[in-house]
Amino acid sequence: MTAKEVIASIRNVPDFPIPGIQFKDITTALAKPDCLKWMRDEMVKRYKDLGITQVVGIESRGFIVGPAVAIEMGAGFVPIRKSGKLPAETLKVSYDKEYGKDTIEMHKGALNENDVVLIHDDILATGGSMLAAVELVQKAGVKKIYTNCLIELEGLNGRQFLSERGIEIDCLLGIEVDE
Ligand code: AMP
Repeated sequence: MTAKEVIASIRNVPDFPIPGIQFKDITTALAKPDCLKWMRDEMVKRYKDLGITQVVGIESRGFIVGPAVAIEMGAGFVPIRKSGKLPAETLKVSYDKEYGKDTIEMHKGALNENDVVLIHDDILATGGSMLAAVELVQKAGVKKIYTNCLIELEGLNGRQFLSERGIEIDCLLGIEVDE
């Protein structure tokens, strides 16, 4: 399996969820055993020697490959969820989206000052969600934060947006947003 073959397995759905958006649907790649394994193995290869203690997944597509990687690396898994979904006391961050505001949450006490964290999501678009996730994990006061997405949508400047805020992101695959 090659990166090119994985990219070819990702489905582009035009005008979803609203007109003008080219939705990159990873479910078609996840359904192929070789692609799913490639994603997990490629991440493990990149992160296994960095002393990561917790993989933090962003709802909801950060919950698919993230736990598989965590198990393989002997790390735990912590979910970041949308507002009102987590049952116990939470830390929160609100951020601006294209239409209105969004709030994300993580359980208080899920991470501690000794944790080396990998924050993971499926797709990097504008970078707003990843920035909010980094701010949320910073509130927990961890030792070190790495960030990763399976796919970078090139042409939306998410990487630059994050870099200007001191965050270097690593993505497995790059796709032109209009492809
Ligand atoms: P952003 O905050 O703009 O970087 O958006 C990233 C989040 O929105 C990720 O959780 C993605 O799953 C989702 N997302 C944004 N744009 C797309 C797209 N074109 N196709 C699929 N998912 C997307």
